[in-house]
Amino acid sequence: MTSHTRRKLRLPDQIPLNPLLDLWDQQEPEGPDATRIYEFYRSLADGKLVTTKCMTCGRVHFPPLIVCPNCNGEDLEWVEIPEEGELYAFTELKLGAPIIVEDYAPFVIAVARFGDYPENGVQISGMMFDIGYEDLEIGERVRWEIMEIEGPGDKKRYWYCFTKV
Ligand SMILES: [Zn+2]
Repeated sequence: MTSHTRRKLRLPDQIPLNPLLDLWDQQEPEGPDATRIYEFYRSLADGKLVTTKCMTCGRVHFPPLIVCPNCNGEDLEWVEIPEEGELYAFTELKLGAPIIVEDYAPFVIAVARFGDYPENGVQISGMMFDIGYEDLEIGERVRWEIMEIEGPGDKKRYWYCFTKV
């Protein structure tokens, strides 16, 4: 999955990200702003989409958490999310996109289920590019892929999106 060319989003240089919107500094494993889910972001950079699983009750979460909301357990383990899932719901965003992705509108915002949802899988929302609302149907197979987000500045960030299988 890491061999093909990654999709890239380019953020406009003239719009500095509000620190509240840019959690990059908090994604470092150490430092005053470090969080305990930095592994999520590091995995994105490695081409993997991961999340946490509670080792006490077995529940898988998304987004990754540091305490299980089901049993309050703190013994969580990182697990990879299966590459393919099923489209559960979707809509198309035509107007009013957040400023960092407004150049990419219209695009589809989808909810997909990965793994053995709900017992041992996750439901995730994600953007879909290069495909229209009318070209999708609930129940279709979709795949997550990692994309690179360039700018502003030299920082490189990573996120994920969905593509139709
Ligand atoms: Zn639990």
